[in-house]
Amino acid sequence: MDRPFFRVQHYIDGRFVEGKNHFDVLYPATNEAIGTAPEADQDTVDAAVEAAARAFRTWGRAPAAERRRVLKRFADLIRENKEELARVETLDVGRPLRDNLHGYIDRVANNIEFFADFAVTHAGEAYPMDNGYVNYVLRQPVGVAALITPWNVPLMLETWKLGPALAFGNTVVLKPAEWTPIGAWKLAQLAHEAGLPPGVFNVVHGFGPDSAGEFLTRHPLVKLISFTGETTTGKAIMAAAAPTLKRLSFELGGKGPNIVFADADLDRAVEISVRAAFFNQGEFCLAGSRLLVQRAIYDTFLERFVEAAARLRPGDPMDPETTLGALIHPEHLQRVQGYLDLVRDGNGEIVLGGQRPDLPAPFDRGNFLQATVITGVGPEDRVCREEIFGPVVTVTPFDTEEEALEIANGVIYGLSAVVLTRDVGRAVRVAERLEAGTVWINDFFVRDLRVPFGGMKQSGIGREGGHHSLEFFTEAKTVCLSNR
Ligand code: NAD
Repeated sequence: MDRPFFRVQHYIDGRFVEGKNHFDVLYPATNEAIGTAPEADQDTVDAAVEAAARAFRTWGRAPAAERRRVLKRFADLIRENKEELARVETLDVGRPLRDNLHGYIDRVANNIEFFADFAVTHAGEAYPMDNGYVNYVLRQPVGVAALITPWNVPLMLETWKLGPALAFGNTVVLKPAEWTPIGAWKLAQLAHEAGLPPGVFNVVHGFGPDSAGEFLTRHPLVKLISFTGETTTGKAIMAAAAPTLKRLSFELGGKGPNIVFADADLDRAVEISVRAAFFNQGEFCLAGSRLLVQRAIYDTFLERFVEAAARLRPGDPMDPETTLGALIHPEHLQRVQGYLDLVRDGNGEIVLGGQRPDLPAPFDRGNFLQATVITGVGPEDRVCREEIFGPVVTVTPFDTEEEALEIANGVIYGLSAVVLTRDVGRAVRVAERLEAGTVWINDFFVRDLRVPFGGMKQSGIGREGGHHSLEFFTEAKTVCLSNR
């Protein structure tokens, strides 16, 4: 394939740095090395954090409108480089290119632009008191923010954190996931070109424990950490951040229920359920990976769902006909296959997929797995409780609304849920009782940037989005003005 070899660099204090201890970056669709990235040691992380702390002195005090000017240029450059970023995201992740070109990169740019505007109009509040005094609240940036992100939707999550962090006046050290470092490096190039001052945005590469991730979470100059990743990693980060009492925002794992009631519009329910289960090859925290179907339509729905899922086409992610991408890494594929072995050895039946697809070279060496549907398993089975993070969905029947809720809420996660029904009253009742940070009624994955996003239970701590990002990324300082 005709493409450059990516020599990914750190970005520290406005300079691109070669770094040391390079590791290979693999293209998930073929497992060829398509580049290398350096691993940051303690000194490199210190240099990035110290640069961010120095830059904070001016960026943190700059007028929000001035920050907006440069952030808007950054967003414009993301849009102008949409094709390249879309390709890079596919090379990093293995997701079909067509999904990146239709909406994904636009949202990446909006993540920056939206918060650049929001910060200008949300600088504080004033409260005149009865006695003539005035209390006013200043929203001030906190300091150096560490942004630690996963590999599944990297550009989306990196900018989702970067936009509010920078717009509200913090400075940033981003540590992207080690399996997907190319996109963050490209973002740094665009931020540089947009004219972000040195030190405002830094990127260090490397791994988690005993590496760049942990060095950041322990660093005394880091004041806040916005982390998205696995629940177990969140627990480790919380412990590492405790001695310096950092402010934390966690977006963690999910095991989304997708509840189909008998009165749902069947065509739409099938389309949404396929999208929810298999978008990004199921490597998606919001995936509707537990399909719960009311018994009256269970057989018909299952047949239609399996038919539709069977039409998903794995293969070359750059091919516009491809609708199912490759899993991120051979290790992850093996982990997902381990769950399928549990089904083969115990309860349940794999009624669709379960195998590696038969693909021509070089994609025969990629981490592809067929769209997989499992039945005959229940809430007690591991495949129904644990996050599989692959193109694997379990389908379970239920009889009553109450039973659907009990199954849906019966896991440690509470990130998102989908309810499919034509009965408005039922939709409202069920949404109210679902333990989930986001509930979609008759749709999936649509969200305004103003609304809170985050998880209940072990799916996260805190919310980001609109005012919630303002809360997290700023200090609220109350000033009392006397009239005497
Ligand atoms: P991960 O937790 O393994 O890694 C995420 C990031 O944390 C990586 O950059 C990694 O290097 C770093 N890291 C790992 N251990 C660390 C440590 N001890 N200290 C500091 N940093 C550390 O997650 P992943 O495998 O990259 O991503 C998949 C997970 O992310 C899934 O559980 C998924 O549900 C979750 N996720 C959640 C959301 C959400 O919004 N809730 C969105 C996307 C992904």
